[in-house]
Amino acid sequence: MNILFMGPPGAGKGTQAEAIVNEFGIPHVSTGDAFRLAIKQGTPVGLKAKEYIDQGLLVPDDVTVGIVRERLQQSDCEKGFLLDGFPRTLSQAEALEQLLGELNRKLTNVINLKVDRNKLLARLTGRRICKSCGSTYHVIFNPPKQEGVCDKCGGELYQRSDDNEESVGTRLDEYINKTAPLLQFYNEKGLLREIDGEQEIDTVTKEIVSLLRG
Ligand SMILES: [Zn+2]
Repeated sequence: MNILFMGPPGAGKGTQAEAIVNEFGIPHVSTGDAFRLAIKQGTPVGLKAKEYIDQGLLVPDDVTVGIVRERLQQSDCEKGFLLDGFPRTLSQAEALEQLLGELNRKLTNVINLKVDRNKLLARLTGRRICKSCGSTYHVIFNPPKQEGVCDKCGGELYQRSDDNEESVGTRLDEYINKTAPLLQFYNEKGLLREIDGEQEIDTVTKEIVSLLRG
C-alpha cells in the first residue's frame, strides 16, 4: 500500500493522514519530517539540504528527491507508506516515478481531498496551531477540549499571522494552479481518487479506508 496523499491547505489532510496510518500500520512520510530527520542524522543528503536551508535558499529538487529516497528505503516503509507533501510539481512527480521504479515499487493510490475554495477560506482563517507540537485545531470544526490549549501536549495554541483571508486566498490559488497538472498526471495513470473532504472528519476517514481496502 503505497499512498500519495494530496489536498489543499485546510482540507484536513494532516488529520486524515494520521487516521489512515494508524488504521493500516504504515508510516506517515511527510517531507517536512523527512528533512528534519535527515538533517538530524547528518546523512550526506541531509547535510546537503542543510546547506541550502541555512543560506535561506530553496532546496533543489534533486536534494528533495534524495531525502525522499533515503526515507522510503528505511525498514518501516517495507510494508508501505503514506507520502505527504511531495511531489508538489509535475517535474517532482516524474522524479518520484523514476525513484520508485529504481526501488521496485509504485504508487497504489493517489488520494485527493476536495473542498470548495470558500469553505477552505472559512476553515483556514479559523485554524489554530500548537506552538509546541504543531498539532492543528479549528475553532469551529475541531476545537481543543480547552480553548487555546493543545489536547496532545498542553502547549499554547496560536493563529498564524498569515491566516487572514487575503493571504489565505493567495495561498490557495497558488496551490490550485501548481497542483492541477499533478492531479491530471495521476488521473491519466488511473491512480487518482477524489474524496469529498467537506464531510464530517470520521465520514471522510471511513470513505478513505473503504477505498483503500478496495
Ligand atoms: Zn501540542
